[in-house]
Amino acid sequence: MESTATTIRPINKAAVHRICAGQVILDLSSAVKELVENSLDAGATVIEIILKDYGLESFQVIDNGCGISPNNFKVLALKHHTSKLGDFHDLQSLTTFGFRGEALSSLCVLGDLTVETRTKNESVATHLTFDHSGLLTAERKTARQVGTTVTVKKLFSSLPVRSKEFSRNIRKEYGKLISLLNAYALISKGVRLVCSNTTGKNAKSVVLKTQGSDSLKDNIVTVFGVNTFSCLEPVDIDISESCKVEGFLSKPGQGSGRNLGDRQYYFVNGRPVDMPKVSKLVNELYKGANSRQYPIAIMNFTIPTRACDVNVTPDKRKIFFSDESSILLALREGLEMIYSSSSSCYSVNK
Ligand code: ADP
Ligand code: MG
Repeated sequence: MESTATTIRPINKAAVHRICAGQVILDLSSAVKELVENSLDAGATVIEIILKDYGLESFQVIDNGCGISPNNFKVLALKHHTSKLGDFHDLQSLTTFGFRGEALSSLCVLGDLTVETRTKNESVATHLTFDHSGLLTAERKTARQVGTTVTVKKLFSSLPVRSKEFSRNIRKEYGKLISLLNAYALISKGVRLVCSNTTGKNAKSVVLKTQGSDSLKDNIVTVFGVNTFSCLEPVDIDISESCKVEGFLSKPGQGSGRNLGDRQYYFVNGRPVDMPKVSKLVNELYKGANSRQYPIAIMNFTIPTRACDVNVTPDKRKIFFSDESSILLALREGLEMIYSSSSSCYSVNK
């Protein structure tokens, strides 16, 4: 193709916003994840997720967190507006899930967003409607306890190709969402999570319900059942003075026949993340003890925030570490110790 000199000019803001929104919110699970994380950041102890038609028609996240104060209503859904980060350096000491101020603004572009919220300083709640550019278009008083409800209808209606893909794959997307919610149900301490779905005229079906326990063990029992828990053993490895990994892993003879990618949950400082190298290592070491099965793994890495970078991908599932090789080495040594000390199981099941 012959190339000709052309003028370089800025893309208009609305178009940039639309392009970026589809990268922040990739699918149903990333949309709901953003809302659940907002509720956790708001200090909620009860979070209810209500799906209509598996999320295709609408999804709603209701929390009892701190609520949003009226002086924030106008800027709530504007791009890069956040209460969590003021300066780039704040990233080093970040303790919240969110920090880019992109979720609500992206959801506005991709669907119809409304918010109902009340802080403890207000006697009534406010219902807010936003347009596709994130501007507040209507505001009215309503009754509600302290907390926030965010409702998104018709996700991806503004992106015809994604919308088609979304409805075609809805059952798969729904499965992915439940698996992701399991991750939050496992790691969140003292938070009750409830998720339900209503399809057509059918009665509401509750698909996840946790007790809000303070222990990982109780959460595993709630999510996977007591039988699964009895096949796990604790992991507690000191990686360095300031880093450790805690959680549970299948006993050598008691994994599962399936490749349970969906039952390996990794967290860094309580944030669900993808850790392909850790997963590979866990599977490899487990294979030495049990070549026919795969392990269930639920592990939380505590690592100083200055030693990791979560600002890698829009969904924050990928994470970089300042010293990844030391983490993997210490993990390898720790897991080898665990498997050598449970060698009795190993010989029975080999
Ligand atoms: P971020 O989480 O990165 O700040 P969001 O677009 O997800 O960006 O949210 C924008 C802001 O809206 C948040 O910083 C927070 O102040 C407020 N917010 C969103 N959801 C809630 C909620 N459920 N409860 C309280 N405040 C919320
Ligand atoms: Mg957020």
